[in-house]
Amino acid sequence: ANLQLANTLRNYISRKLEELRKREGSDFSLKIMDFCGTHEWTIVHFGLRSLMPKGIELVAGPGCPVCVTPSYYIEQAIRLSLEGITIYTYGDTFKLPAINPVDGVSSLEEARARGGRVKLALSLMDAIRDAKATGKDSLFLGIGFETVAPGYARALVADMLPPNLKLLSLVKLTPPAMFYSLDILRDKPTDAPVMGVIAPGHVSTVTGAKAWVPVAEHFGIPVVVSGFEPIDVLSSIAEIMRQLVNREASVKIEYTRAVTWQGDLKTQAMIHRAFEVADDAWRGIGFIPLSGLRIREKYSKNDAREAYGIRELTPAEWKKDTPPGCRCAEVTLGKAKPTDCPMFMKKCTPEKPYGPCMVSIEGTCAVWARFGGGG
Ligand code: SF4
Repeated sequence: ANLQLANTLRNYISRKLEELRKREGSDFSLKIMDFCGTHEWTIVHFGLRSLMPKGIELVAGPGCPVCVTPSYYIEQAIRLSLEGITIYTYGDTFKLPAINPVDGVSSLEEARARGGRVKLALSLMDAIRDAKATGKDSLFLGIGFETVAPGYARALVADMLPPNLKLLSLVKLTPPAMFYSLDILRDKPTDAPVMGVIAPGHVSTVTGAKAWVPVAEHFGIPVVVSGFEPIDVLSSIAEIMRQLVNREASVKIEYTRAVTWQGDLKTQAMIHRAFEVADDAWRGIGFIPLSGLRIREKYSKNDAREAYGIRELTPAEWKKDTPPGCRCAEVTLGKAKPTDCPMFMKKCTPEKPYGPCMVSIEGTCAVWARFGGGG
């Protein structure tokens, strides 16, 4: 039944492209951006790109939080681990390469091999339990998008962190990054335009689909909040094509089983209590206005920036922090494909990542490497 539905959706998408071509010209083509690393996984794993008619290109966006965490913060964590502070980190950050080695050490994995205190944690709660048990001075690397913010906010507001554990909030917000990517791609006049967005489902359970209205309105393109099954993604593309033919540009929820228009209002209020929105640096890309969450002054006793002297990067100090030749920044912004990078599956592999997009399973290069490219 799913195959039949996939075929029906594929035919529908092709028909809508033909209708657009009758109106816009016979060689009209377009791009649709999937923001989220998990959507990119679905697209690659199930070969959805190969189902698209010639003229529709699916491009990946900046939806991998590990990939866009500035090298500076990884270097700070390496330094602290070598000084005896316990660093709690998610598994996919473990191999993330730093651009400036600290005492010859370029990742948390290497730091641990050199005697640094680095522990893998599944969540902040995991780290809280362990830090209480050990009593050691510790730091939790809080990397993620809006989906991790509720857990961090709850821990801050409910005063759950023991005095020896500090949180380094590296939480990034997705709608500002979407804005930034679309702005850059709009300035690429020779290329097919991005005319639709498959918006992240998990993030939208927190923010609500309403968070994407400014994107649809500013760029005049449809945005569909999608689930993660192949049929979800195909249905979302079909909805984008329907809107384009009808000259609509609205936000629709395909992932109705999890996402509402308003999102989780209670959680949004709690996040607002714990964090303030700040300009933030994205690895390889630079500063994106109002795209990060910082711990509010009221909870500064839990803030690793205060406790361990981790200065905020400023736009003037920020330097391009991808390794020489790595095109991860362009991949992240949808300007290049992993296979455009000469190091893809040569110098850079999932086993030995050279650039940040090859580390996490949500990184576009890592997804293409594991599942045979984007075809
Ligand atoms: Fe960077 Fe590796 Fe991707 Fe090339 S393949 S863009 S080096 S992460």
